Amino acid sequence: MVVPQTFKKVLLTKEGTLKTESFTVSGRKIPLLEIRTRMLKEQESLGLLRIHSDDYYAAMADAEVRSRLIQLGEDDNRGEESESQSKERLKAIERKRHLMVWGDNSTLLNHGHLLLTVNSIYDEVVYYTNEEMIAKGKGDIDVQSLVERPQVYILGRCGSSEVDQLAYINTRKACLQSMNIKITTSNGVEITDVMRFFHGDGPEQQFEAGEQKGGNAGCASCSGDARKYKDLAVSLCKPHLTLSERLKKVLQGPAGKNKRNAGLKPFKDLRLEELRSECRARGLETDGQKRDLQEILKEEIGGIQRVPAMMFFDQEKTLADLGLGRHRILSTVGWS
Ligand SMILES: [Zn+2]
Repeated sequence: MVVPQTFKKVLLTKEGTLKTESFTVSGRKIPLLEIRTRMLKEQESLGLLRIHSDDYYAAMADAEVRSRLIQLGEDDNRGEESESQSKERLKAIERKRHLMVWGDNSTLLNHGHLLLTVNSIYDEVVYYTNEEMIAKGKGDIDVQSLVERPQVYILGRCGSSEVDQLAYINTRKACLQSMNIKITTSNGVEITDVMRFFHGDGPEQQFEAGEQKGGNAGCASCSGDARKYKDLAVSLCKPHLTLSERLKKVLQGPAGKNKRNAGLKPFKDLRLEELRSECRARGLETDGQKRDLQEILKEEIGGIQRVPAMMFFDQEKTLADLGLGRHRILSTVGWS
């Protein structure tokens, strides 16, 4: 699918005013649904999938269901769950694949390009182990590397600017919305796919998270002070910020809520009065000079510069609405 589309971009000029310009994005996307279907076929034909039929579960005794749940690290009995409810829960767990998107934005032949790939994540619940494959007479193969082989998802012309990259968000979101369509194996078993992770290099993680690039921040996980990364005690104490928490931190004050600077950099160059409003909305100290308030606000929001990319056009929605309920960005910045 080719997606040449014209977008309007809002630029922030040096003088601090906003200017609108048109630009075209062209890229190719293989819809996620197609990739998921193809991956399932391939995994099936290689015999990597553990997936059991309904009959298999029907024949399972309650004790077996419980011991299997315990083996998987799940509660063997959640409250007042009936035998059939536990069985359904086990079935759902064993028929769920977790997927990851990996992103890279780099220059190729003097043009910026965006490459996104998708892969499923190896999990012994769903896929056989190497030892099991040998025991089944399928030979000595590396199951994990086959399962996690990346599939090209989006490849397109794309500059490295925030605005250029945001132009791909809506088409990616449309794909995520198709995630609730179940796909079926050749035996008619329905498989659920969940998009769990986004990964990529530093700038890609920062883009997805809405974290600032460069400066004394940049961790897509904790948004901590980069000067303190080497101090393990500080680094390991910083809690991971979920995408919802990031969204909330941005929208907590008027700048984020009103999409100041087109929502791209709502906290850039806040005036004293604006800083005061931001601090007030967050229950922070509001007395002091501009510099004091800048410090106070910085301490609170860290390197967060806008809402996460996937929520940029839907800031009023929840992650669950966008099919990203359990989505996380894998971060490596603190360790590189
Ligand atoms: Zn961190």
